[in-house]
Amino acid sequence: MLDLTGIPVVDNHCHPILREQQLDTLRYRACFTEATDPIFAELHVANSAYYVWMLRQLATILGCLSKSDEDEVLTARGKLDADTLVEHLYRAASIDTLILDEAHPDPEICYTPAQRGQLGHCRIARRLRLETLMQDIIVDVTDFDELVAHYQHALSNLRLHGYVALKSIVAYRTGLEIGEWSKDQAVAAFREAREAVQDGYVRVQQKPMIDYLLHVAFQQAAEQKMPIQFHTGYGDSDTDMRLGNPLHLRSVLENEAYREMKVVLLHESYPYTRLGAYLAAVYPQVYFDLSYTIPFVDRLEMLAFTRQALGVAPASKLMYSSDGIFLPEMHWAAAMRGRSVLGQVLGEMIQHDEMDEQQGYQLARQVLHDTAYTVYRL
Ligand SMILES: [Zn+2]
Repeated sequence: MLDLTGIPVVDNHCHPILREQQLDTLRYRACFTEATDPIFAELHVANSAYYVWMLRQLATILGCLSKSDEDEVLTARGKLDADTLVEHLYRAASIDTLILDEAHPDPEICYTPAQRGQLGHCRIARRLRLETLMQDIIVDVTDFDELVAHYQHALSNLRLHGYVALKSIVAYRTGLEIGEWSKDQAVAAFREAREAVQDGYVRVQQKPMIDYLLHVAFQQAAEQKMPIQFHTGYGDSDTDMRLGNPLHLRSVLENEAYREMKVVLLHESYPYTRLGAYLAAVYPQVYFDLSYTIPFVDRLEMLAFTRQALGVAPASKLMYSSDGIFLPEMHWAAAMRGRSVLGQVLGEMIQHDEMDEQQGYQLARQVLHDTAYTVYRL
C-alpha cells in the first residue's frame, strides 16, 4: 500500500456546502442518497455501507466513544459551529484546489467560494453550468436569436470571467447523444420552453434546443481551449441511466471542429467505468474523473472502478474528485478515501512488479493533482 497522504488533492468536481450545518437526523441522512423519495432517509440510508462507513470516520475525528451510534456522532457534530467544522475537516483533507459548480445548491444558503477558500486554506476555481445558463436566459427573452446572442455573450472570454471549465448535465435531461438539429427545429423547441416558463423559472428539457445550444458552446470551448465536463452514468434520480452511457458522445468526440475541446467524463461514468476509461485511453481530448464520495459506493466498489480506470487509461488522463455537496465531510472523506484506495491499487501493482514505488507515486500524483493542473490550466 502506497502512502499518499503527502499529496494535496485538486478536487476537479464539487459543489457548494450549506452555511447552516445543524441538521436533524433525517435531513443529514438525506444528503447521502441520490434518491429523492423520503423513504430512503427514513429506512434505508442508515443501512448503506457508505453511510455506516462515514459515521465511523466522523466518530473517529470527533472523538466519540462509539463508532456506530448515529445519535452520539450527530450530537458531537452538532456541537461544532459550521466554520469550525469546515475548517477542521478541510485542513485534515489537505486540499489544494476545489473546482466548483455553483449552480447547485442555491448559493443563497451556501458558503461563498471566498469563505471556503479561507477556511480550507485552498484555492477555489469555478466552472459554468450550461443548462442553468440556458434557463436563466430563456426566462428573459422572447426571441430565439436574442437567446443565442445573450448565450454567446455569456460564453465569451470565459477565463477572463474566472471560469476554468464548462459543465453540462445534458445526460440528466435529454441524454448524451447530442444531435445536429436545424435552426427551425431549435426555434420550435425554444417556443415550447418559453411556454413552460412559470414564476420566472423553466427546467429546459427540449432536446433540439439543448443540443443546438450545446454545439454553440462547443465551438466556443474549442476556440478558447476551455475544457467541458459532462455528467455521465450515476447521478440525479431524474436521469435515464441508459442515456448516460459515455459512448453516446461519439459524434461529439469524432467531430474535427471540437478537437481542441478537452472533455471530462464525470462520476467515473459509473457503472460504465470501463467504457468511459476506454474513451480516455483512445481519444486525446478525453479525460476521466474518479469521484470518491458520489456515487455513494463502498470501498470494494471504489477499488474496482479505480482498478478499471488505471487498468486501461494513463494516469495523465485521470483526475480525482469528490462531487462533495452540502456537507464538508464529503470533501474530507473523499480525499482520505481517494488517497487510500488509489494507494492500495498502486500498491498491488508494485507488488506484482508492474512498476516500482517511485513510478507508482508519480502516477498517484497525476491522478490526485497534476492532471487537473494541466487540463484546467490552474
Ligand atoms: Zn456534481
